[in-house]
Amino acid sequence: AIVVAVPPTATTSSKLPGWAVVLLVLYFFVLEVYAAVSFVQAARYSGGVTRRRMQAVAVGSLCIGIVILLSIPETLAPETSGFWSAIGLGFSLAAGAAFFAGFATPAFLRRAWQEPELRAFLGRAASLPRLPNTTAIVRELERGAAAATGAPNASIGLWSPDEGVLRFSVLGSSPRLSVANGSEAEELAAGAHELVGRPGDQGIAGRSFLTQRPIFVGNAMREDPVNAARYQASGASALLAAPITAGDKHLGVLAVYAPRAPIFAEDDLVLVQLLADQAAVILESRALIDEAARVQAREEATRLKDDFLSAAAHVLKTPLTTLVAQTQLLERRALRSPSDPPDLAGIRRLVTEAKRLNRLVLELLDVSRASQTGFVGERAPIDLVPLAREVCARYGDGHHHLEVDAPPAVVGELDGDRIRQLFENLVENAVKYSPDGGSVRVALAIDDGEIHLTVTDWGIGISPGDLPLIFDRFQRGKNVDDRRFAGMGLGLYICRQIVEQHGGHLSVSSEGVGRGSTFHVMLPVVTNPAASGAVLSA
Ligand code: ADP
Repeated sequence: AIVVAVPPTATTSSKLPGWAVVLLVLYFFVLEVYAAVSFVQAARYSGGVTRRRMQAVAVGSLCIGIVILLSIPETLAPETSGFWSAIGLGFSLAAGAAFFAGFATPAFLRRAWQEPELRAFLGRAASLPRLPNTTAIVRELERGAAAATGAPNASIGLWSPDEGVLRFSVLGSSPRLSVANGSEAEELAAGAHELVGRPGDQGIAGRSFLTQRPIFVGNAMREDPVNAARYQASGASALLAAPITAGDKHLGVLAVYAPRAPIFAEDDLVLVQLLADQAAVILESRALIDEAARVQAREEATRLKDDFLSAAAHVLKTPLTTLVAQTQLLERRALRSPSDPPDLAGIRRLVTEAKRLNRLVLELLDVSRASQTGFVGERAPIDLVPLAREVCARYGDGHHHLEVDAPPAVVGELDGDRIRQLFENLVENAVKYSPDGGSVRVALAIDDGEIHLTVTDWGIGISPGDLPLIFDRFQRGKNVDDRRFAGMGLGLYICRQIVEQHGGHLSVSSEGVGRGSTFHVMLPVVTNPAASGAVLSA
């Protein structure tokens, strides 16, 4: 429509017809707009100073485009050209300023543009030492350093004093390394990777570490020709490196790099050194946290050992004292009247206490082996019904009534000795924790390839808060006192290991203190995968 409206007289001053001028102007205008859009898009993929510099260039291109566009009214209406050229001059100046800011960024602007990223990084810094591991911290530091300097890449090499090397560890998606070569770059894409080298072999970053001074290099390939191929492969032409040092501890080196020099200025060295110092504080804090965790773990192990010793000494003392007293009594009687018939009741008491002692010692031995594989041994088909009846018959007394509720046979492929130990522990607990007597019911059933065993009593019960704890070592219910109920709190821990190593599950339910307890055991009928195949094909 514009083209049609052009009056022929308007083009008199030009050799070209009016419509051609308009087309030409539009062509250049579109070209400038295209350049501006490209810079805006490229800016979206970078950050910090670089992004802002690209945005400034985009603004400059757009201003130039407008200046070009203004030549249309200037050409078509020469009488208003003074007005248009004044506006054009304004846009020209704006374009100049924008290009200056973008291509030759003055230091004050660079600092102002770096500030938000730097602030964001320093704001996050306090939380960095709590990341799950040092690799994650290093990764965050690298990202922060790249963002704050506006460089595409940053990487940290950590000093390993034992080996005397700098370790640059990289993940596939993280910045490439100043020292990576082609094949290493491919490996990097595949996942975690580590580059190790003596500081002397690690080019400019290594030099910064050795001299403990920040270094700025505009053209790394020229400065350090020995490693030129590596710099080229990783796009590291301009490079800033600063030592990461806390006090007299040399922790590593931070390298920030870019494919082209103008991205950095000499005064960025100060910024990179500041980031490296921040990194040193963060890495030191992390080391302190790790050390604290190690100390805590050591203390925990010591506490567990102390618990173990005091619990062991405590429970072994009771039967031992009885044994000693009873033996001395028998001895005195034998000395006093050697011709008297032996004191059978006394001897029986000796046997009972000796057996109890034996069981406790076995329990102590088991608990140290229980968490290892091989605690549950060879498995063979066994029928649990006669086993349950035998154990119940042994623990039944005038006080307690034990009953077994089971089908004629419940056969599973299990370690017979360990399963007997499981039955004994559960039935013994049911009797022990029903001090006023009562019933204990053992129920067995087989369902859908699983054996279900429950041991129910109507004794002292378990408080809800204790339910999740009693399977841990040395844990006893709050309603259990040592004088009334002897025990170490190890039996259920062993039971759970036995059941779980058979591929089963052990749990407990209780209505609460004083209302009895039920222990539920699930065991697979066949626990051996090879045997399972045999049964299925049979
Ligand atoms: P111990 O009986 O030697 O204390 P266990 O590991 O067998 O060790 O049991 C841990 C704790 O679980 C017991 O101290 C007790 O508080 C609780 N407990 C176990 N069985 C029962 C039960 N049948 N009734 C009530 N509490 C039980």
